Amino acid sequence: MSKEIEKQKHSLAHLMAAAVLKIRPEAKIGIGPATEDGFYYDFGNISLNQDDFKNLEKEIHSLINKDIPFKKRVVSKEEARDIFSDQPYKLELIDDFKDEDLTVYETADFIDLCEGPHVSSTGEINLAFKIDRTAGAYFKGSEENDMLQRVYGLAFETKEDLKKYIENREKAKKRDHRKIGQKQELFMFDEEVGQGLPMYLPKGAMLRHLLMNFALNTYLDHDYELVSTPHIANEALWEKSGHLQHYADDMYGPLSVDDRKYRLKPMNCPFHVKMYNSRSRSYRELPIRWAEMGTVYRYEKSGELHGLTRPRAFTQDDAHIICTGDQLKNEVLGALKITEYIYQTLGLTDLIFKLSVRDPEKKEDYFGGDEEWEKAEKALENALKSFGRNDYIREEGEAAFYAPKIDIDAVDAMGRRWQLSTIQIDFNLPSRFKMNFINEKGEEETPFMIHRALLGSLERFLGVYIEHTGGSFPVWIAPVQAWIIPISDRHEDYANKIKNELKKEGLRVVVEGVNETLSKAIRNGETQKIPYLIVVGDKEEKSEEINVRFRGENKGSMKVKEFLLDLEK
Ligand SMILES: [Zn+2]
Ligand SMILES: [Zn+2]
Repeated sequence: MSKEIEKQKHSLAHLMAAAVLKIRPEAKIGIGPATEDGFYYDFGNISLNQDDFKNLEKEIHSLINKDIPFKKRVVSKEEARDIFSDQPYKLELIDDFKDEDLTVYETADFIDLCEGPHVSSTGEINLAFKIDRTAGAYFKGSEENDMLQRVYGLAFETKEDLKKYIENREKAKKRDHRKIGQKQELFMFDEEVGQGLPMYLPKGAMLRHLLMNFALNTYLDHDYELVSTPHIANEALWEKSGHLQHYADDMYGPLSVDDRKYRLKPMNCPFHVKMYNSRSRSYRELPIRWAEMGTVYRYEKSGELHGLTRPRAFTQDDAHIICTGDQLKNEVLGALKITEYIYQTLGLTDLIFKLSVRDPEKKEDYFGGDEEWEKAEKALENALKSFGRNDYIREEGEAAFYAPKIDIDAVDAMGRRWQLSTIQIDFNLPSRFKMNFINEKGEEETPFMIHRALLGSLERFLGVYIEHTGGSFPVWIAPVQAWIIPISDRHEDYANKIKNELKKEGLRVVVEGVNETLSKAIRNGETQKIPYLIVVGDKEEKSEEINVRFRGENKGSMKVKEFLLDLEK
């Protein structure tokens, strides 16, 4: 979001508050920032509903048409308390401020406590906007405070963008992966099993298996090696890795094993480090690239769980690369290329690359020395440039405390951004575990370590992918590629014969709809988004052909051989 757009959105929040106070003078106002898709403002003591939205919009338009200046005034805390004497939330915010002088902004008779910036006059606002919805929100985000009504507005540069956004949101609702998951019998949750613990039904498990194999085979093709590690480890390991000190809130409580305490793993890294450290390593062995489809367990608050995209157990397509400083750039570049290949193959072609570096003003907040930070940041930057993505977004202060990283967002069919992939360097673990290798001079040297998960987690990726495709998966990854529907039960044998022929060719195919009418079976297959529906009856049996429908389109009768040729295409 550009500064200019942000200014306009936030100014709209002011105008919305002004409009609300006009129709509900008893409202008590909270705060009103810009958001990714618009703006919001929090109100107490009132409850607005859909019927009020039109009036509010009308009032905001009228404020814009009047071209009223935003007048800034610097006031003392004392004066501010006076101005907001009947606004309890503002009074509390005033008390929170450390500075003696505060700024207020006036637009006609509306005054707000705010640091700005805003447009200089309401007439400058040219965004297309709409009051959208309300939700409850605690004042200052704390459950101990009052619950306020948050009123959301949408704001976009053009009317078309606004319309498109609303349409996409409707589409996304219909494509909710939890609904599709149920309809297609892909996965399920069960209260008795526990919240946030997905179970894959046969079709979902096949989809997950195909996705996992695709990713894994790609890594193996790129000279990664496969490793495998257990799900629990002694607390001593998590202490040494620093997880118990810094990550305990995301981990599950200890398990007693003999007289020791163990923990479920929230990450795979310390195991890989242990394996690396199991003997001395020479520079000749580097880079080492170890991949693991590692299932990890992380605590999420029950209110934050959301289907597959936010579960408590998930499997990362994890890998760690251990290399020398000189190899760093090429290793990162390699990971970037694989990421692009994987996402393109899956049909997610719009990727956004973000380089997170440390805050240059707060170097002391980060682990590791200047030299390694500079080397690592340069390596990531050069890798992105060699990769040809000069349009990456550089985010200062967004690095992990242990090193810089590249995060990659994928944009789905509804225009939503999902952060899925991450490529992170780490100075912390090599130092904590005293990792080393013998360099060309015969001296011990600390290697660099890269964590990278390209799909991120299979669960989260699948959640996003189900919504991106609307459950209509490309043929190569569709868990069931074809249904063979016999017109009546006397064609069942022929249907099974065709099934076996196609299975031999590696197709995932079943005979379906034996006890149903043909039209019902076809309708079911289409609802289930089965790519190919193959119908066989007297005519087909006699001519040794099959009748093929592909996603609603009748392709006519053909020999199995012709069908296979078509499929290859
Ligand atoms: Zn403001
Ligand atoms: Zn890791």
